[in-house]
Amino acid sequence: MLVSVIFWFVVYTLTQPLSCSLQHEFEWNKYRLPTAITPNEYSIHLILDMFGNEDVNMELPYSGSVNISLYFNESTDLIVLHSVSLNITKVKVETQTDSSPDVLNYRHNDKMEQLEVKLDRRPDAGTEMNLQVEFTGLVSDQLQGFYKGTYRLSESKRRIIATTHMEAVSARKAFPCFDEPAMKARFRLEISRPQHWSSLFNTRLNHSRVYDERRMLDVYGFTPKMSSYLVAFIVSDFGSTNSSIVNSGVDKHPIEIIVSGRKDQLSQLEFAKGAAAHIILKYEQFFKISYPLPKVDMVAIPAFPAGAMENWGLITYRESALLSDPHVSSTTHQKWVASVVAHELAHQWFGNYVTMKWWNEVWLNEGFATFVGEMIGTKTFAENQGYDWPVTENFILAITQAMAVDGLLSSHPLSRSESKVNSGGIIEEMFDSISYKKGAAILRMLDSFVTRNVTQTALQDYLNSHSYGNAEASDLWASFDKAYKVAHQDAGETDISTMMNSWTDLSGYPVISVDIADQKITVTQSPYFLCVSCRKDKKDVNRLWTIPVTFKVYGSHASRLYSFNLKHKKAVVRLDMRRRWVKLNIDWSGYYLVKYNNYRLIQLSELSDVDIANLLFDAFELFKGGYVELKEFISLMWRVKEKEDIGYLTNNILMKIWWYLLRTFDQLHVYSEISQQIYKWLNVKNLDISYDSVQQMNSKDRHILIGKLWMALHIDYVRTAFENNQLLILALSWRRGLLEKSTPVVSKNAEDMTGSGRRIHKDISKAVWTCAFLLDERGIWDTLWKKYITAKIPSEQANYKTVLAAARHTQLLHKYMSYSLTSGKKDDTVPIISLVAFSRNGRDVAWSFVKEHWNTLYSKYGAVGPMINKLIVATASNFADRTKLLEVKSFFADLTGSAGKMAVAQSLEKIRSKIYMVEERGADMLRFFQHLRTRDSVL
Ligand SMILES: [Zn+2]
Repeated sequence: MLVSVIFWFVVYTLTQPLSCSLQHEFEWNKYRLPTAITPNEYSIHLILDMFGNEDVNMELPYSGSVNISLYFNESTDLIVLHSVSLNITKVKVETQTDSSPDVLNYRHNDKMEQLEVKLDRRPDAGTEMNLQVEFTGLVSDQLQGFYKGTYRLSESKRRIIATTHMEAVSARKAFPCFDEPAMKARFRLEISRPQHWSSLFNTRLNHSRVYDERRMLDVYGFTPKMSSYLVAFIVSDFGSTNSSIVNSGVDKHPIEIIVSGRKDQLSQLEFAKGAAAHIILKYEQFFKISYPLPKVDMVAIPAFPAGAMENWGLITYRESALLSDPHVSSTTHQKWVASVVAHELAHQWFGNYVTMKWWNEVWLNEGFATFVGEMIGTKTFAENQGYDWPVTENFILAITQAMAVDGLLSSHPLSRSESKVNSGGIIEEMFDSISYKKGAAILRMLDSFVTRNVTQTALQDYLNSHSYGNAEASDLWASFDKAYKVAHQDAGETDISTMMNSWTDLSGYPVISVDIADQKITVTQSPYFLCVSCRKDKKDVNRLWTIPVTFKVYGSHASRLYSFNLKHKKAVVRLDMRRRWVKLNIDWSGYYLVKYNNYRLIQLSELSDVDIANLLFDAFELFKGGYVELKEFISLMWRVKEKEDIGYLTNNILMKIWWYLLRTFDQLHVYSEISQQIYKWLNVKNLDISYDSVQQMNSKDRHILIGKLWMALHIDYVRTAFENNQLLILALSWRRGLLEKSTPVVSKNAEDMTGSGRRIHKDISKAVWTCAFLLDERGIWDTLWKKYITAKIPSEQANYKTVLAAARHTQLLHKYMSYSLTSGKKDDTVPIISLVAFSRNGRDVAWSFVKEHWNTLYSKYGAVGPMINKLIVATASNFADRTKLLEVKSFFADLTGSAGKMAVAQSLEKIRSKIYMVEERGADMLRFFQHLRTRDSVL
């Protein structure tokens, strides 16, 4: 780094007038690269000073060169590419012609993360040129670019591997490149590795040769044409299971599926491998486009900044997202693994084969992978393998998380203005629940409007039209328009592009108010804002969406489904409505809320589980935002709660509401009233958690059972343990087994996790362990911490992680976060602090911890994907009082850089909305719950 800066300075001072002002230092000083030059092919050569016995704290240098073949679209004497934290030692150019230009100088623009290469003459447009850059660098300690991943061989011994994570803008940290998604090229790699280790790249190994007495050089062939953020390479001592080979259903070429990870974890890779084999063929069949590579590697990385990364042909995963043990890992965990595999494989088409043009439309990658991954990949895998996972219901629950953010004024449109997404920090912000979950939600809404056949045709058209290239949302809607018009000759004025533009260009979502009179239904749309005090300041309330509305009319006749597009502020549907009522948003397929003028007309017994859940969720969001009165909302909620057969989705929405109330009012008198009501509803005494009973349940019932246990322990663990005798016995037995055994507590085959012959079903183990821990926190903390850091089964490790965060003693919570920061798993620190912040006792401790260690946390995670944003929202948004609002505001007032700004704005807005809830609704809430305690029913 220093070398290149000094070199540049000498050249610069010799060639430029001294009076030149600073903003003219660089000829190209823009965030986006010039389009005059296109890269075609990269040959990357990397030599690591890595021999297989490195200490985790040692620096890991490497040297390398990259040869890039360039095409000049225009005549220019300036080549600008990306490079950061690399020490450039030599830059050379070559053309096929005799009059090859020379490099006049090169210099590094640190702010823009660019390398400017000035030529001594301008080659003509159409020139092909070879650019060679030599450099040295350090394998990073942060979880980005080319970085060190560490894992434990034992409690005291750790091992390093070298791996990559390039998305979004970190390929430039590994090697100089044109690091923009539309600058697609083919990449090949040569990389050194310790003699008995192995390496991996996007493509297959071509051959290996001896590099020196301790290292080999692995040589790989070219990738397909792709974006730089999809490049990946790994040097490790990992092993792999036997690969699976499936034949492409489109062009019959064999596709090898190889799963790898630490050698002591290989048996846990089989489930993911099976899921991948099934899902990849399903996608081929759906898109009618073959997976273009001969192999897909899937690797479990011990320290990973995200859930997984879709690098073409070499998908990297956080360990817990790929590994599962059928005897130990819970049903929820297995479903999570299948979902992540399905999501990453969907990216091989959406993202890799066709890529968004720029990061302002990252939802085109992520919304698609989420929608296709769940609704096609995971769903068909589960159906085919006989898993009874509630895929659609969980998909809907995920959408409610997007709505929680999208109801804020500080949310953002799916497609942001291209010019505004102009820094690494803002690009990272785009990887949020809006891009993933709202993106998926509007695709589901469109899918249900146009029908699945049209969706399939449109997606095939979109992928074929832009193969190995880039696209924008307008290209996608054009494909939908085409397919829709072919399928519906009578489509008339329906224009998919216009409809969908309103969903991608506007942030937030509408609330439809329904008014029923004798002869008509009047619907009116307006934007929804969660924060009452925030929306008073906002002029921009005239947003209009084109909403594909569905509704059913119930009453004296059989229910009937209607649909129409609401394009204007208001619409009137003329129907005879005497003694009849309506429910909008059938099957909860639309991304909007509905407010009814009379909830009492609605007969819950006539609605499906999904429609009751939708009705209740909407009413709750409207209540939070001040659109619906407490009495209206609570009376609906009580009717739902008192129903005898509450379905899975409705149960989940009820729990969501309970959690919100517990967490918003947790410092106030009303908390004890609310928690008593919830405790009564949970009916802890009658929860049967015996092994056989849990085993016989379907996965929905198990999920509900776990949720109830978890909430009961949160409210009052002592009472829960003593009221549910089974829980107490299992918890105490498990604790005894934990303390008496030096070997792992889990005996896999018997699923006997207590050490005393009592069996704990794997799906409820986390609740049992938590109960044991809460009954004796100080007594077993050290043992649990050791179990956590040495666990070989990631799902088990995740259980320990959650259990430790449930501590009631603030000193233990503080110790837990401190240990995690200094000696825990690097990719677990943010999740651990977030888990601590979630609990009633941990909220203030986590926030204090974040303030105290902000600089360390920011330097470790500030530039790493969306981690810092998650940390801010998880710890700073939980408060409901004005003092804390000011504290959070002033703490983040001088946040440097752009990373985290949107997260801070969203946190402040969430606090404001909770203050409204406490100040405006708290007294009524208290009166209601007190009244309820003294009477059987007030409604
Ligand atoms: Zn993704």
